[in-house]
Amino acid sequence: MQDGFTEAPTRLTLLTAGSVALLMTIAAAAIFPFAGAPAANVPVLFPVFATAMSVNNSIIAYLITLQFYITRQTAIGLLGSAFGYSALMAALQVATAPGVFSELGFIGSRSHVGVWMWITRLGGFPLLIVLAMLLLKFSPDHRVPKRYQNWALAGFALGPAIATLGLYQFLSVEGTRLPLLTSANGNYSSLAYGQAGFLMVAAWGAALVSILQVTRLRRSFYCWLALGSYSYILYLLVNFAAAARFTVGWYTSRFFELSAAAVILGALLYEVLKMQQRLRRSYEHAYEESIRDGLTGLFSRRYFDTALTREIASQQRHAQPFSLLMADIDFFKQYNDRHGHPAGDRCIRKIARCLSGQLREGDVVARYGGEEFVAILPNTNEVTVQRVAERFRRAVMALELTQDRNGTMTVSIGLYTHHAATGLTADAMVAHADAALYQAKHDGRNRVVSSPADLAIQ
Ligand code: GH3
Ligand code: MG
Ligand code: MG
Repeated sequence: MQDGFTEAPTRLTLLTAGSVALLMTIAAAAIFPFAGAPAANVPVLFPVFATAMSVNNSIIAYLITLQFYITRQTAIGLLGSAFGYSALMAALQVATAPGVFSELGFIGSRSHVGVWMWITRLGGFPLLIVLAMLLLKFSPDHRVPKRYQNWALAGFALGPAIATLGLYQFLSVEGTRLPLLTSANGNYSSLAYGQAGFLMVAAWGAALVSILQVTRLRRSFYCWLALGSYSYILYLLVNFAAAARFTVGWYTSRFFELSAAAVILGALLYEVLKMQQRLRRSYEHAYEESIRDGLTGLFSRRYFDTALTREIASQQRHAQPFSLLMADIDFFKQYNDRHGHPAGDRCIRKIARCLSGQLREGDVVARYGGEEFVAILPNTNEVTVQRVAERFRRAVMALELTQDRNGTMTVSIGLYTHHAATGLTADAMVAHADAALYQAKHDGRNRVVSSPADLAIQ
């Protein structure tokens, strides 16, 4: 199974989710004997809870839909819709509840139709989860084609809205003809112990089983989704045990629904955090790759160009000279021809390491071309860079890499030291170092030559 949720559950995740499930079960069992005990009549609590559920489920729907946006996996889109449906139905419940916007509430029907809204919300929600799980099982890789992505997104958002409006329309017309499930004194045992109640618990049971069966809890998110579904079962059981409004069970049962939202929301936020972490890591990796040369691990030529521009700007502020060192392996073609390309590569790597070893922390060393290297030495004048270059030249000889008839492998080095007063461009500076290198080659190789531009300044 492959999908948008990537975090595999750790042992700790499973242990925590299991412990929370156990705690919830204990809490539910503790409430059970007192569920039917009458409690204070606080009418405002119901709309407050329903508002909280609407907000929480909206955020969950949004975050899951973002996952769909990334993966285009249809099952995930449907799962987002399930939460969207619950969010919108909860909002409608609040809007139409007696005493919130009007005394009699929903189309003047007191709580008669309100109960049916509650049933359709808490019954439809798990069925949509089951649907998403079935899709995940039988068509795990079903993805919406990229060109229909936005249409699908609109569909997953509008679907719950249309369903909610449709139910509103249906209940407004037919609602009062549906069986009366609550008596005037707030007793709803015909719901709790009747078919509707049984079917609601069964629907959440099916959601839980389908999550376990299809996902096998191979993703951390699904562990929490399963726990959330289990919380809904406890919610209904405690609520039905109360069987009357304004009782201990009627109030406390809602905390199970709040807990479900909390764990699912927490799991999603964790998923987003992990995604951010992965993104950051891969960005850092890609950046590092882009500025490094694959063979030697030195900086790339592109990075050298930006580093040089930066150095020029910094020099203008500090009025310190800096030097460029350009080195090229002598007669390298022959070495390659004789020892083969892989040996040539190893040789390039050794000389690159040797050059890095001669330089200071803040110096920038790059591979300029095949067997050419370039370094920027900040705060370094002609005399110092000459000394560094000479040390490097000798160090290469000391490596005793056997060159054909010429004996040991050597390098030629060109130097250019820049003083702010000259106002040269980066390209011109490189050209000066390159010219000095050319001169070193011309003069017989295995030597260090400073740019004539330096001499002109001195
Ligand atoms: P010179 O002293 O004038 O620099 O002579 P040279 O033979 O070193 O100069 P040239 O530029 O003609 O040859 C450079 C050779 O470096 C050519 C190419 O085969 C070799 N080369 C360039 N890049 C690589 C590389 O990544 N790996 C290996 N093994 N060889 C490379
Ligand atoms: Mg060469
Ligand atoms: Mg060359």
